[in-house]
Amino acid sequence: MADSNCLFCKILSGDISADIVYESETAIAFRDINPQAPMHVLIIPRKHIATINDIADEDQSIVGSLYSAAREIASSEGLADEGYRVVMNCNEAAGQTVFHIHLHLLGGRPLGWPPG
Ligand code: AMP
Ligand code: ZN
Repeated sequence: MADSNCLFCKILSGDISADIVYESETAIAFRDINPQAPMHVLIIPRKHIATINDIADEDQSIVGSLYSAAREIASSEGLADEGYRVVMNCNEAAGQTVFHIHLHLLGGRPLGWPPG
């Protein structure tokens, strides 16, 4: 299930360290190494799924659990009422650089819209 060439699978296995802020049966979350906002957390499934295009119907509960994680982390970081953004990039034009799906959870500053 893990992809030995995948950076986020290596974080899941512990081969690469990360500042982990959340763990569940289906997902983990850790702080982005190059934060774009005061809070910038990446939420990933334990299952290796390369892009949104590769999400199977049977993965619905896994993908749903990423949003439950976002809700819980935003709350524990004190940003639930103020607001925050959750975004997932797919493939090159959107800027995806790590091919193991991840939600970006961003907050702690005003976030412009539309994104660049
Ligand atoms: P994306 O461009 O949507 O694929 O996002 C990949 C994100 O992973 C970027 O925001 C990177 O800063 C972040 N990133 C890359 N390597 C690491 C790492 N070792 N630990 C934490 N975040 C990372
Ligand atoms: Zn992976």
